[in-house]
Amino acid sequence: YKIAIAGAGAMGGRIGAYLKQNDEDVVLIDRWQDHIDEINKNGMEIQTETETYTLEIRAMQPEEVKEKFDLIILLTKAMYAEDMLKALKDIGAITESTAILSMMNGLGHADYLSKYVPKSQIFLAVTMWTAGLRGPGQLLLEGKGGIECQRSDGQPDERTERIVQVLDNAGLNAKISDDVFFSIWSKVAVNSVLNPLCTILDKTIGEFGEYEDAREMLTPILKELVAVANARGTNVVFETLLAKIEATYPNEAQGLHHPSMHQDYTNKRLTEIDYLNGQIAKYGDELGIETPTNDLITHLIHQLEMKYA
Ligand code: NAD
Repeated sequence: YKIAIAGAGAMGGRIGAYLKQNDEDVVLIDRWQDHIDEINKNGMEIQTETETYTLEIRAMQPEEVKEKFDLIILLTKAMYAEDMLKALKDIGAITESTAILSMMNGLGHADYLSKYVPKSQIFLAVTMWTAGLRGPGQLLLEGKGGIECQRSDGQPDERTERIVQVLDNAGLNAKISDDVFFSIWSKVAVNSVLNPLCTILDKTIGEFGEYEDAREMLTPILKELVAVANARGTNVVFETLLAKIEATYPNEAQGLHHPSMHQDYTNKRLTEIDYLNGQIAKYGDELGIETPTNDLITHLIHQLEMKYA
């Protein structure tokens, strides 16, 4: 069972390392040459809460791939996933039975990826694991998490069972989802509120939550999201999502952290805004649902990205 991690940054590194440690046949595919070189030369350095150790694992550019995979786990940033999938398709790494598993944050992946492979080959996962990179070849792995996964067209598939089994055996705490879109929208709700607002405001999640009118600020973003999700057949509930967002504020939860978009912005890297608020707005346009707040948020982040130059 040949596995590729396509996009082996922080999160791809975490998944790849766990699989490798469980003796799976796994390679890392990435576009960051310094990272690839460091991993091939010195191994992947892994720092956890309790230890730091080195793991030997192969890394390469997509153009260097010479094998076909049973499972390709896509963990680029969302806007680079199509380029990665196309490169792997062009090099012949994808067969008709290859499962393409997107574990990225955000919305719309199955639609975008289905330009290259049919939806019956695309699987979607939501993960609550986190990961960080300290530099090329240097992973920082803290905390615990889980993964849920389903074929993107909702159909049962033996491959889903195999994927979940492989991930779960590696200690990644995986299960089959019976409604992955519910989980995707629930996570997107948190990300599309806290990521852009903490980035625009330059605040930690806790600092944002301390503002007495935080709820009033996020309500229009979330109301639009709920309307769009419901119109697309995923029944999320405003109050439940609000509670999920507010549960992140305490220091014991995520209060002390900046969301990943804030880190992307600080590091002058493009954000995944088009797959969060931007995609909510796009779906809204398709459905005839007004999403002025999500449009504005998307433009604000794009304007911030223009300051990188
Ligand atoms: P990441 O930035 O660590 O890695 C993504 C890609 O960027 C990789 O190809 C990596 O090699 C490259 N990259 C990273 N740093 C670079 C640098 N300094 N120079 C050049 N290239 C660099 O992203 P990630 O956190 O692994 O996220 C991947 C996907 O997983 C995203 O969709 C993200 O939203 C999602 N996700 C991440 C986490 C997390 O805790 N990291 C949790 C859940 C979901």
